[in-house]
Amino acid sequence: MITIKTLEEIELMRESALIVSKTLGMLAAEVKPGVSTLQLDTLAEAFIRDHGAEPGFLGLYDFPNTLCMSPNAQVVHGIPNKDALVEGDIISIDCGALKNGFYGDHAYTFEVGEIDPETKKLLEVTKQSLYEGVGQFKAGNRVGDVGYAIQKYTEDRGYGVVRELVGHGLGRVMHEDPEMPNYGKRGRGKKFTEGMVVAIEPMINMGTKSINQLNDGWTILTKDGKPSAHFEHDVAIVNGKPELLSTFKYIDAALGIQTDAEDEFRSVPLVL
Ligand code: MG
Ligand code: MG
Repeated sequence: MITIKTLEEIELMRESALIVSKTLGMLAAEVKPGVSTLQLDTLAEAFIRDHGAEPGFLGLYDFPNTLCMSPNAQVVHGIPNKDALVEGDIISIDCGALKNGFYGDHAYTFEVGEIDPETKKLLEVTKQSLYEGVGQFKAGNRVGDVGYAIQKYTEDRGYGVVRELVGHGLGRVMHEDPEMPNYGKRGRGKKFTEGMVVAIEPMINMGTKSINQLNDGWTILTKDGKPSAHFEHDVAIVNGKPELLSTFKYIDAALGIQTDAEDEFRSVPLVL
């Protein structure tokens, strides 16, 4: 069942989403060679609690930590550990927060020091595919329109689109209807209406779309061992159009990135 949110609820969801955005922005300055994913996890948990929220993933389906930390060939759902990140790694960080009864849930793939150009391209294309998908999340469109846009943009550039894991509706529950695959056919699937809120989250592999799962019961990784990227935003439909609730602007500020990719999807000015 799809849960429609009121404008008041959407503003509460923006608050939850922005706590995650700020957490990722804080982490952006901390991701560097020598730091462990467990150290970053500890920082994130304290930061979220300091902002009056609860970590959204900790304990969810018995997940043991605050962040899903998925380096290199890991796609999603990696568990933080004491291994140090090294120069040239990429690290996908997925973060959730719960405040006022609503979840925020978004993700970014960071570069650790200097990375090779081929992997940099994977990150750029995956991030842009997220905005291609967001642009299709509007009243009257359907689930397949978002999936098609992401699949077309990434497969045209030679990448693999993970099939087994998908985006989702978001609200008082972390994973609500509808499922939001990163592949699909235009005009197919459930229709989007005013007040829907979803997490759109392309998981894109440099090589094959096929995945394996580690026997920790969580970690998903690419079958061919090539890198995978993951970017995720929370988006509502307001006045028929996509309205971004989360933002990468805190990350951009920390990393000195200049971009206007988000601006067309935000009606409320963002004060950093
Ligand atoms: Mg997520
Ligand atoms: Mg999600």
